[in-house]
Amino acid sequence: MAKKQFKTESKKLLDMMINSIYTHKEIFIRELISNASDALDKLYYTSLTDSAVGVKRDEFEINISLDKDNRILKISDNGIGMTKDELENNLGTIAKSGSFDFKNEKTAEDIDIIGQFGVGFYSAFMVSDDISVISRAYGADTAYEWKSKGVDGYTVTEASKDSAGTTITLHIKEDTENENYTEFLDGYRIRALVKKYSDYIRYPIRMPIEKSVKKEDSDEYETVMEIEALNSMTPLWKKKAADCTKEEYEAFYKDKFFDFEGPRKVIHSKFEGTVSSDVLLFIPKHPAFDYYTKDFEKGLSLYSSGVLIMDKCADLLPDHFSFVRGLADSADLSLNISRETLQQDASLKAIAKNIEKKIKNELAKMLEKDREEYESFFKDFGIQLKYGMYADYGMHKDTLKDLVMFISSNNKKYATLKEYLSRMPETQKNIYYAAGETVDKIDSLPQVEAVKSKGYEVLYLTEDVDEFCLKMLTSYESKEFKNVCDEQLDLLSEDEKKELEKKNTDSKDILEAVKAAIGESVNAVRFTKTLGSHPVCLSTEGGISLEMEKTLNKMPAGDSVKATTVLEINADHKISEKLDELFKTDKEALASYSKILYAQARLISGMQIDNPTEISNLICDLIS
Ligand code: ADP
Ligand code: MG
Repeated sequence: MAKKQFKTESKKLLDMMINSIYTHKEIFIRELISNASDALDKLYYTSLTDSAVGVKRDEFEINISLDKDNRILKISDNGIGMTKDELENNLGTIAKSGSFDFKNEKTAEDIDIIGQFGVGFYSAFMVSDDISVISRAYGADTAYEWKSKGVDGYTVTEASKDSAGTTITLHIKEDTENENYTEFLDGYRIRALVKKYSDYIRYPIRMPIEKSVKKEDSDEYETVMEIEALNSMTPLWKKKAADCTKEEYEAFYKDKFFDFEGPRKVIHSKFEGTVSSDVLLFIPKHPAFDYYTKDFEKGLSLYSSGVLIMDKCADLLPDHFSFVRGLADSADLSLNISRETLQQDASLKAIAKNIEKKIKNELAKMLEKDREEYESFFKDFGIQLKYGMYADYGMHKDTLKDLVMFISSNNKKYATLKEYLSRMPETQKNIYYAAGETVDKIDSLPQVEAVKSKGYEVLYLTEDVDEFCLKMLTSYESKEFKNVCDEQLDLLSEDEKKELEKKNTDSKDILEAVKAAIGESVNAVRFTKTLGSHPVCLSTEGGISLEMEKTLNKMPAGDSVKATTVLEINADHKISEKLDELFKTDKEALASYSKILYAQARLISGMQIDNPTEISNLICDLIS
């Protein structure tokens, strides 16, 4: 019997499989079961229109059997089978659907592809040194056997088989120093692998399993073989949401994601259209232990018709929703797709888009319908949404702007931007915010008091990312965001403005003397009229606030950043008269007062002072 040669590229793939150093060789079982399941699908569809098939839906099955002594693993199905030509064409060439990129060198990338996507039938050569495929096509009278020991080629000869279907017989390789192949002859190991990779195949996968049962009329046990269905067949996500119970979702979630608590929210959805998919998503009750570390890996499990093709597909989840766990299953994705092409895959992109939209809508619904739950969620993951607004040059800000919340001066509780807007008096032109370490510290800022006394609400930004996030948004419903510590704050009437301008012009020399005493650390000194009862404050000009300065300078890389600061002195406070007086009578005292006022302003803003000893001595001179 003349051996036939494999096509060149198939040979390369085969060679790679045979010599594979890939550690998860176990995936061959997923590949063979997936092929069997496809074959069953095909015959089942034929049976819908062709009564001659004579197999009922519940008679389609996949059987596995093991023969340890002879090192044989058999997988058979009663599916559509293959003709002689099909055996040659389908098994003699690499899977047409596979977009495997052949490289001469085995790289880490290749190995990754084996793991993530499998490479079809040939993966069996990772564990087997002799493969026989006996198949009888539906409608054919003769069966054929395809046999191969690897790269040397294969033979196809006539064989006998009673009914349509395929039986694949693998001779499992002998163990080597580094590799244990015998595990693939262990029933419990095979059962675990089927559960792991093929639990949701829609046909039963059966195998005789050793069971220890009690003998009748005796206390002794004996070992018997019992045929057991290894897979649970109907995946939860393939069921109608209305037919699933909360308990089922919880059990599934805990089991799959190793969480001790049930999920906060379940999103179970079917997308239909050019690309259809079933998705089952969970918003956890708490962040994963490594969620806010760089070790965290986002992603959803990706299934193609119930077969797991990737455990964590990052492309299915945007970063701002990376806390979501779950899976997507689509019949429109091929099993043999490489990672490179997956990223470009239009179907995958469409599914990802649907998923993002769905999560967004569910969160918006929670915010509207169950405020308490949302706030609890937001405490854990709000920061991630805010990073999302800032990330990618603000690309996602519109998706997220109505999901973020900030503490409001109104009641020290969370407010959305929409809520803030709805409470704005007509005279108010801007959305005001103030940043600081804690709500209490922000609340006692003189500038906050000034804005509040106008009857305006202030958003209290306590997270580092908050201000960057608002800066990225720049405005909400055409209302601009304004830091209350911004020098340009427009709170005065026209008359008040004129009066203040005059005061600043008239006091030019005094202000210069104050600035000279403080030195370079302040950029300007001015009188102001919006401080109520407070003597001084520190405000900033330009884009960078004091809080941003702090945050940016905490980052490891980059040049140090400095805000442009202005010392503002309350023109209506008696300290202003005092400065006038000292300017005329005692320049030395004016200098001391200036330094103390500047130190006070820094402390009020939550900044450190550079010269505490000097300031302390100056104050002591004054009070003793
Ligand atoms: P893919 O499944 O992506 O097509 P494979 O290498 O896994 O690639 O399989 C190659 C082809 O061999 C399949 O497309 C199918 O036509 C055929 N085949 C493999 N296993 C079976 C089987 N059990 N029954 C019928 N046909 C099969
Ligand atoms: Mg396949």
